Amino acid sequence: MDIHEYQAKELLKRFGVNVPRGGIAYSPEQAVYRAQELSGDKCVVKAQIHSGARGKAGGVRVCSSDEEIADAASWMLGRKLVTHQTGPQGKLVGRLYVEEATDIRQEIYLGFVMDRTEERVVVVASAQGGMEIEDISANEPDSIIRSVVDPAVGMQAFQAREIAFQLGLDPSLIAQASKTITGAYKMMDQLDASMLEINPLVVTGSGEIVALDCKVSFDDNALFRHPEISELRDKSQEDARETYAGDRGLNYIGLEGEIGCIVNGAGLAMATLDMIKMAGGEPANFLDVGGGASPERVLMSFKAVLNDPNVEAVLVNIFAGINRCDWIAEGVVRAVQELDLKLPLVVRLSGTNVEEGRKILAESDLNITTAETLAEAAEKVVSAWRMAEAKNGRAA
Ligand code: GDP
Ligand code: MN
Repeated sequence: MDIHEYQAKELLKRFGVNVPRGGIAYSPEQAVYRAQELSGDKCVVKAQIHSGARGKAGGVRVCSSDEEIADAASWMLGRKLVTHQTGPQGKLVGRLYVEEATDIRQEIYLGFVMDRTEERVVVVASAQGGMEIEDISANEPDSIIRSVVDPAVGMQAFQAREIAFQLGLDPSLIAQASKTITGAYKMMDQLDASMLEINPLVVTGSGEIVALDCKVSFDDNALFRHPEISELRDKSQEDARETYAGDRGLNYIGLEGEIGCIVNGAGLAMATLDMIKMAGGEPANFLDVGGGASPERVLMSFKAVLNDPNVEAVLVNIFAGINRCDWIAEGVVRAVQELDLKLPLVVRLSGTNVEEGRKILAESDLNITTAETLAEAAEKVVSAWRMAEAKNGRAA
């Protein structure tokens, strides 16, 4: 789960990291009012969306008059801001953050990620901040500092100081930088974040270290331990298809293609996506029904998949261990009947109670194509989808 910049900064503050003062606004009038509460003759109006690179898309504006604030706010609010991270559909700006302007002397990159190879949190830092980490690694690869944190002891003061020194910071800034690095690490660790990025972390004209932007992602599987973090969820920023499925306890990832996939297990799901691609099709999603799926759960999975208007054919691929093919088949039959499914449907069942499952499908007299192997299933669903496309007058 992602949260907004202002929420991330509020959390950072609790962990002792300096952030600029600011307030949230839902209208241009409120934005002007918020700015009056802050000190200084300049302020920054920032669109709150779950995406980086807002600056380049017009979502970050430094303003020096009420008029400019109101203009920036009216331009941003209600707009679908398109950054190169949002995809072409953009993300809706529903709220703004109005902050006191910061006098920037230097922009630093500071990120914390879970490194799957190291199985540890890795700190990534660069004195060439402001641009995205991908650009830093392309343009200034030598500026990147990496430091692995030992989970048994956490981020140690000497380790944080070492990173600060490697960043080439003035000795007078080392203590503050070290406090920032340890504070951010504690936040990541204690709140079960999977990623935390402060970009830019700035050195101000008056020699202070301030987090000017912050992105955090939380591990969904740990959210139950942090109800106050779950409260920060903003569904307007999420893929509506994923929200629908997630609310029903289904593991779903929305993709761009036309073939809906109902599968059990993440590994089989990945293999299924590969096979569809190899057969010349494009998957619309990745839906994992999990283990021991009841007919109701299968029906719900169909609803989640058909909720996506791009879906033109559906593939069910189950390798039943804990699952039971007869339950899956029952769910498939109910879905076709209750949802009046007209799209081509291919089902491949294998494993526990497979004979019973196939019998249920065969006796249903419904228009369901069956397959024995995954390769055959992928071929069949792609050719059924091609035929449907041709019938609809679209060239596949
Ligand atoms: P992002 O584009 O979504 O990553 O948004 P950021 O919050 O990182 O802002 C983008 C850029 O705007 C920063 O790298 C800064 O260069 C600039 N910026 C943001 N806040 C301020 C500010 O208070 N003063 C000044 N002068 N520039 C700012
Ligand atoms: Mn940024």
